[in-house]
Amino acid sequence: MKKAVIQQSNIVIAPTYNRSEILFVKGEGCTLWDSEGQKYTDFLSGIAVCNLGHSHPEIAQVIYQQAQMLTHVSNLFYTIPQVELASLLVEHSFADRVFFCNSGAEANEAAIKVARKYFSSKGISQRYKIIAMHGSFHGRTMATLSATGQEKVKKGFYPLLQGFEFVPYNQIEALKQKIDDTTCAVILELIQGEGGVNCSTPEFIQEVRKLCDEQGILLIFDEIQTGMGRTGKLFAYEHYGITPDIMTLAKALGNGLPIGAMLAKEQVMCAFEPGSHASTFGGTPLVTAAALQVLRIIERDQILKHCNKMGMYFKERLNWLKSRHSIIEEIRGLGLLLGLKLSISGAPIVKACLERGFIINCVQENVLRFVPPLIISLSEIDALVACLDDLMRHAS
Ligand SMILES: *Cc1c(COP(=O)(O)O)cnc(C)c1O
Repeated sequence: MKKAVIQQSNIVIAPTYNRSEILFVKGEGCTLWDSEGQKYTDFLSGIAVCNLGHSHPEIAQVIYQQAQMLTHVSNLFYTIPQVELASLLVEHSFADRVFFCNSGAEANEAAIKVARKYFSSKGISQRYKIIAMHGSFHGRTMATLSATGQEKVKKGFYPLLQGFEFVPYNQIEALKQKIDDTTCAVILELIQGEGGVNCSTPEFIQEVRKLCDEQGILLIFDEIQTGMGRTGKLFAYEHYGITPDIMTLAKALGNGLPIGAMLAKEQVMCAFEPGSHASTFGGTPLVTAAALQVLRIIERDQILKHCNKMGMYFKERLNWLKSRHSIIEEIRGLGLLLGLKLSISGAPIVKACLERGFIINCVQENVLRFVPPLIISLSEIDALVACLDDLMRHAS
């Protein structure tokens, strides 16, 4: 069966991914099974999506019950799970209002649009430029690609949307010089995930906030990868003692169901009015009921506390690996968004890990990225570290 499926996939599916030759059929907690009964421990979580693990029984139950009750109606009407989820997100964040959509890119699109609308509705439409960071990743749609600071994903798609400028990450002077009276917002990730698990410094972020206040421009945090407990706080901005004006979420928000959200302060979101922006599937009862359950479980099961504990232990173990292998240049990241920078290409190590039953991935050619479900255990971390230790002994 596996061979036939792979063959057919390579014929009928768009060739936009380099896939490993594994056919997954089942998941539970941090474990996945392939079609041949092989077991894997998941340190990728569908790229930071399944933060509560695979096939969580309570989330599955909520999805089933909600699907039987009401899956979708238009946003021309009210539904209960949507309001409950928005209320909980507002209660736990800086934000006053939420716009629901279906993906990270769509959430960032909404952020870009509301930032421009905020100024144009005040009659200052010459303020439309957004400053983003080198190494950033904000999505694959034309606008979010335009906001992305990596040439390799933009190649072949020019001309892109105008009005985006780039400065080096963590360099406040460069940002200061770029801001002028055409700037409407600054967008950044507090940890650049796709960019190589690059952490922002608290000083930089605090200075950016100050700068945005002084200049009267908006600060957008793309927390699509860092949000929903990934870094040990519900939102990564909580580590920095400041708040943004706009924040985007997706990935782990629905633990696997497609949902995105753009959150903003009252004055910002209310630049939108009926007809300004929309999304047919945005915030349907099905996905919002699931996301609501995700948030309730994060609170009830003290997932953040566990994430912090496991994150600290994992980082310690990776540093132990670093002390043993000269091919490791740096360990970086926060909570359970961790990176291990190699002096060699990471792809062979990713492949060898797969063969030994561990799913990890590699960004920017040589940074191994670890984003396990937040429910990962000490023994699962130990098993991966032992595997990496063994592999690196042979690689160096
Ligand atoms: C994954 C990601 C996106 C894009 O999300 P999609 O759901 O794939 O559109 C945007 N920003 C960041 C930081 C991401 O990690």
